[in-house]
Amino acid sequence: MARVHNWQIGREMEYLHEGARPQRQLAGVFDINKCIACQTCTLACKTTWTSGPGQEYMLWNNVETKPRGFYPLGYDVNILTALGPQRWEGDRYVGKTIFESAPAGERVLGWRPEQLDYAHPNIGEDEILGNVSQGGAFEDTHPQWWMFYLMRTCNHCTYPACLAACSRSSIYKRPEDGIVLVDQSRCRGYQECVKACPYKKVYFNAHTGTSEKCIGCYPKIEAGDASQCFAACIGKLRLQGWISTPEQAREDNPVDYLVHVRKMALPLMPQLGLEPNLYYIPPIHAPEPYLVQMFGPRAPEAVRTYRAAREDPVLKGLLVLLGSTSKIISKFSVQNDTAIAFDDSGTELVRVPVREPVIIRPPTDRLYQIRRENTT
Ligand code: SF4
Ligand code: SF4
Repeated sequence: MARVHNWQIGREMEYLHEGARPQRQLAGVFDINKCIACQTCTLACKTTWTSGPGQEYMLWNNVETKPRGFYPLGYDVNILTALGPQRWEGDRYVGKTIFESAPAGERVLGWRPEQLDYAHPNIGEDEILGNVSQGGAFEDTHPQWWMFYLMRTCNHCTYPACLAACSRSSIYKRPEDGIVLVDQSRCRGYQECVKACPYKKVYFNAHTGTSEKCIGCYPKIEAGDASQCFAACIGKLRLQGWISTPEQAREDNPVDYLVHVRKMALPLMPQLGLEPNLYYIPPIHAPEPYLVQMFGPRAPEAVRTYRAAREDPVLKGLLVLLGSTSKIISKFSVQNDTAIAFDDSGTELVRVPVREPVIIRPPTDRLYQIRRENTT
């Protein structure tokens, strides 16, 4: 075992391999508050990558309803239960990661789903926690009746559990972008990766006898384009870019700004120790203890920052850039109430007004010689 630094848990931890961060790391940010669970992202991925034999059940991108939805069944409850009660002290996680809790003779604490666990990807969809009596109506806030949508793909983790568990060394992390891939020619289908990944984002293909996973749409990434699930998002809540370590964070890098500078976008279950590279702006209406369990101790502060974003020109500007281009955004700036996105070379990708202009047209249009009636 090697000692590596995991900034998400604020300490060093044990990992199978020496820490070797890629030259740069692909990352994504999701604003949970804007998701409508249309599943366009799910279908964009499904039709692109997993329409072949043996892939029928695979959803490399899925969107589940929390707290009652899971894909596969109970994936988060199972690993958190296996890990047992653990503790944070401020920003430092003093509990054990899934690497540090591995049973004797194993590399990772994990569990392998049964086939039927994948059978109901939309279980719990739109179900709230708690019961509403017949004839009941929501008034004001409703702390005991809540739900939110959680969009999930492979996190292309800095310390991937799938990679650590693979005894064939079939799984590797690309140095140029940090994307985690399975070498299909090496894989023998032992499924140790399926068991190890706590997010359950590696899938066994019974037709080929190998494990398969999200490839980050790497041909698109190499061309500067966002992955399919990011580019297709109807809710305009996704941002794809590059993340630095906290010490190297840049204020003009949109992912760095949301994650490191404003600390408003948080990883999913950071306590597991993988340093996942997808970040979530937490929902503003879910109970704090639930959010802390899912996104770590910074969740309440992230919600407060998000609520105050409307008074914050830069944050508000960056939020309107989410979903504004199908390209990867490397830099951004906000000037004169306009948010501007740039690619790697500094070329402008898009500019978006922070405040949508309101244009009231006169009832009589002299140019077209018509009169408009307000029929609403
Ligand atoms: Fe591997 Fe799972 Fe991390 Fe993806 S999310 S890199 S499959 S451990
Ligand atoms: Fe949510 Fe966007 Fe996916 Fe629709 S496409 S389910 S809005 S993440």
